[in-house]
Amino acid sequence: MKSKRLITGASQLVTLRGRVPRRGKALADVGLIDDGALLIGNGLIAQVGPRRELEALPEARTAEKIDVGGRVVLPGFVDAHTHLIHAASRAEEYELKISGASYEEIARRGGGILNSVKKLRSATAEALKNRALATLCKFAAYGTTTLEAKSGYGLDVASELKILHLHEQLNLEQPLEDVSTFLGAHVVPEEFRQKPGGSRQYLALLQQKLLPEIARENLAEFCDVFCDRGAFTRAESKEILQAGRAHGLVPRIHAEQLSRSGATQLAIQLGAASCDHLEHVSQTDVRALAQSKTVATLLPGCDFHLCLKKYAPARALIDAGAIVGLATDYNPGTSPTLSMPMILSIACTHLRMTPAEAIAAATINSAYSLRRQKSVGSLEPGKQADIGVFEVDDYREIPYYFGVNTCWMTLKKGEIVFQRGSPR
Ligand SMILES: [Zn+2]
Repeated sequence: MKSKRLITGASQLVTLRGRVPRRGKALADVGLIDDGALLIGNGLIAQVGPRRELEALPEARTAEKIDVGGRVVLPGFVDAHTHLIHAASRAEEYELKISGASYEEIARRGGGILNSVKKLRSATAEALKNRALATLCKFAAYGTTTLEAKSGYGLDVASELKILHLHEQLNLEQPLEDVSTFLGAHVVPEEFRQKPGGSRQYLALLQQKLLPEIARENLAEFCDVFCDRGAFTRAESKEILQAGRAHGLVPRIHAEQLSRSGATQLAIQLGAASCDHLEHVSQTDVRALAQSKTVATLLPGCDFHLCLKKYAPARALIDAGAIVGLATDYNPGTSPTLSMPMILSIACTHLRMTPAEAIAAATINSAYSLRRQKSVGSLEPGKQADIGVFEVDDYREIPYYFGVNTCWMTLKKGEIVFQRGSPR
C-alpha cells in the first residue's frame, strides 16, 4: 500500500467543486476538467487539475500511478436514504404489485413492512451482518462510497438496538462509511396495533427507552419518521422528531409519499436535514423548500418499482431553488435497488433532470444532507479520496446506458475497494 497515488488518464474529471449546496442553475455545474488528474496522499485529495500540471509536481514523481485509460472519474456517490439492514427480499410481493394490488391489500396478505419486521426479529445479528456486508460490496461495485442506513425493521427495543449496533460494526469491518439513522417510527408494530392507545404507547417506548439508550451509546446521528397514511400523523411525527432532537439526533423525514400529510412544512419548521420522497408536495411546499436549508431528497426508484405514475416534481423544485438530492431508498418493499447509476437514469427519464443535475444531486447535495459536505461529495483538496471510475467516454453516458453498470473502479479514502476485471 502506497500513501501517495496519482490518477491520470481521465477523459473527464467531474469534480463537483464549488458552491455547496447546489441550487437552481448551479445544480448543473459539475466542474468538468478534460484530461484531468488527481493526486492522493494519506487517503485525502492533495491536488486536482489538468494532467500536465499535476504530473509536473515533485510529489507526483514518487506517487503510485493509476492510469484509468480514458474513462470518466466522479466523486463516489453519496446515497442519503437506504434501509440497509433487512433480513430478506420481498420478491413474493412483486407479482401482486404488478397485478395492481394496493399497499393495504398486500399488508392484509401478510406482506409489507410488518413482514420484514417479523423476519428481522427472528434473524441473528450474524446473518444480518453477513447479508449487509455482501450488500455493501455491491454498493461499492456501483460507485457508492458513503451511504445513510436506517433502522426501522426491528420496532422493539432489542431489535432496533441490534440494527444500530450493526451500523456501528459495519463501519469498523468494511471500507464504506454508513451514517446511522434511527427510524423506530417506521410503522406501529403488530403487538401495539391490537391494543387501545397502542400507537401512543409505542411512541412512549421510543421516547422513554430507545432514544435515551441510542444517545447514551451514540448509535445514531439522525432520527427519521414515516409521516404518512398508515404510519404516523404529523403531530406524532413532530413529537418523535423533537424527542430525537432533545437527544442530539438531527431530524429527517419520509414526507408526502402516498398522500400530502404536511410533513414537508414540519421538516422545514424543525430544521430537518432532509425531507424525502415528495411525490405529493404542493406548490406552497415547493416554495417553502426553496427558502429553506432542508434538502429535498427524491427517491424515484420507489415510483418506478411500484408502477406509480406520479413522480416528485423535480423540475419545479430545482427551478424554484430547492436543494435537490437523489437516493436509492434501497429497501425490500418499495425500492430493491442499490444502483445509483440506475437512479440517475430514472431521474433523467422520469424526473426530467439532466445528467449533470442528477450527478450533483447524488454526490454533493446528498453529502450536504448527511452533514458530510466538508469530507465527501466532490473532488477537492482536503476531502476524502472517494472516487468512482466509469467505463464511458462522457459522463452523460452513465445514466444514458440505463440498467448497465459502467462502474469500473471505486476508491474509498484512496484505497481501491472495487475493480472490474481487465482493462479495455
Ligand atoms: Zn425510506
